Amino acid sequence: MAMTKARLAILGGTFDPVHRAHIACALFVQQLLQPEQVQLMPCHLPAHRSSPGVSPQHRAAMVELAIASYPGLTLQSLEINQHKPSYTADSLEQLRVLYPEHQLLFVMGSDSLAYFKSWKKWQSILELSHLVVCQRPGYSRTEGDCPALLQQFGTESKDLLGTKPSGVILWLDNAPLDLSATQIRHCLQTGQQQALHQLLDAKVLAYIRQHRLYQAL
Ligand code: ATP
Repeated sequence: MAMTKARLAILGGTFDPVHRAHIACALFVQQLLQPEQVQLMPCHLPAHRSSPGVSPQHRAAMVELAIASYPGLTLQSLEINQHKPSYTADSLEQLRVLYPEHQLLFVMGSDSLAYFKSWKKWQSILELSHLVVCQRPGYSRTEGDCPALLQQFGTESKDLLGTKPSGVILWLDNAPLDLSATQIRHCLQTGQQQALHQLLDAKVLAYIRQHRLYQAL
């Protein structure tokens, strides 16, 4: 009889800052796929974009505040503790060793899947884990690398994840949320305070104000 393995879901990102769509993705995955934990893993330096606005320590502290009231959501500090660019394939190799018995689920937004083939060792990411893709407005399954990847590895059935150790891409039917960290940084820099409560956890917003992060120079 097939044994159901414990699962570990990992949502990687810059979290510059963490926002409500990140938490919504994590909760959607938690409810649907029942992993033991959903770990939010801030990168030290992102490999695919310009440097974050604030330090890894601040970004991790904001993640901790945002997840504080959600049991099962945790901070994974593996990447921020390394003083070099973060590559998901390397991090998943380390997580494979730390969690030898777990099935690994790497969670990303559909914007990330659209350029996934440019990620370092993307094939080895699919050997180490399944991919779980949250839909994001503006990034449908016809964008960039999505069609080819979904044709080869894709499914919309969560049951398929249990039949293989890795290598399946699950396209979620979450309700897409139109918000980004870029939009939040823009609101903070231009003094548009009203929208911020809809975009961010109140504790994260208080932290940003206390430490005067992302303000116009
Ligand atoms: P930025 O605007 O600075 O590029 P971001 O809002 O995309 O940031 P990241 O920290 O880069 O946030 O994202 C971490 C992960 O969460 C990525 O896989 C990204 O695709 C996903 N993600 C971010 N925002 C959303 C969203 N609104 N819907 C679905 N997934 C999202």
